[in-house]
Amino acid sequence: METSLDAPSELEKLTLALLHSRGEVERLREREAIFSSLLGGVNAVLWAFDWQAQRVIYVSPAYERLFGRSAALLLADYNEWRNCIYPDDLDYAAQSFAEVLEKGAIEAREYRIIRADGQLRWISDKCFISQRGGENQPTIVVGIAEDITEKKQLEGELHRLATTDVLTKSSNRRHFFECAEREFAHSVQFGSPLAFILLDIDDFKQINDTHGHQMGDQVLQRIAQCGANALRRGDLFGRIGGEEFAALLPGCPPDLARQIAERLQREVQRLGFTCGRKSFGVTVSQGLASLRDDGSLDSLYARADAAMYKAKRSGKNQIVLAD
Ligand code: GH3
Ligand code: MG
Ligand code: MG
Repeated sequence: METSLDAPSELEKLTLALLHSRGEVERLREREAIFSSLLGGVNAVLWAFDWQAQRVIYVSPAYERLFGRSAALLLADYNEWRNCIYPDDLDYAAQSFAEVLEKGAIEAREYRIIRADGQLRWISDKCFISQRGGENQPTIVVGIAEDITEKKQLEGELHRLATTDVLTKSSNRRHFFECAEREFAHSVQFGSPLAFILLDIDDFKQINDTHGHQMGDQVLQRIAQCGANALRRGDLFGRIGGEEFAALLPGCPPDLARQIAERLQREVQRLGFTCGRKSFGVTVSQGLASLRDDGSLDSLYARADAAMYKAKRSGKNQIVLAD
């Protein structure tokens, strides 16, 4: 007599296997749907690159949004990636990409791209080796590219705030001396001339007392403009004290430095201010020192400072050359 405990027939086995694999397919579909929605939602481009074939083999949907270009074109031709990079950054982008082969991972990699609509954007593009190539096995590099334009703008703004004087928009004291140290080291290394000008406004307290602090602020702003007008490209200019400015002139021999200081003196003498019905002018005293063989930046500054005080003692509104 037959019982229900008999072994399953071949047909039953096949049916069970079919049901099982249908379940697998269903689960895979679900997982693919989850990955697709994740990749579609993430605001970063995930990509994979076959190094031997020099071909992009995968790029996530965010590519078209971030790069403003067609993913199909990129998958068809890797030059599409090179073509979108800002020309000044192309060598760096290609070189840092190649370095991933020896280092295994390149995390700090930032460059600019030009989107199809002409917009310039900053991209952080980290890359990692996902599979080392071997016999019959390609080297696969994967990466994640993000738009960091806003972060870069913020960094730029923070740098500007940290390095400039709010009132006059010239370099602040700290930034001026940081840059001056670099220029000084360069001059010493290459034996090139260097000049330091220290400028202090004459009787500035009286300007404030007579015409008000706001008028004093305007005077500071206009004198900073005179600095920008009189100096050459590459010269440094900064507000290093309340009503004290400094200039550093790299590669500038003493005679030329004196001419530049005189130009600055004339620019300031030409300034005119009106406050109500009163009008007034402003003068400055300058000390000028040129680099000597034995000097340091501190001693150059100290010599310019001593010369400036000599100008004050000699009646102000003049330039004194340091000993
Ligand atoms: P001297 O010709 O000897 O240099 O005399 P001075 O009056 O220019 O120098 P003093 O050091 O006596 O006064 C400098 C004044 O600068 C005092 C200070 O209130 C003013 N000052 C400093 N910073 C600012 C600023 O940001 N705005 C304004 N309006 N005044 C400032
Ligand atoms: Mg002063
Ligand atoms: Mg003064």
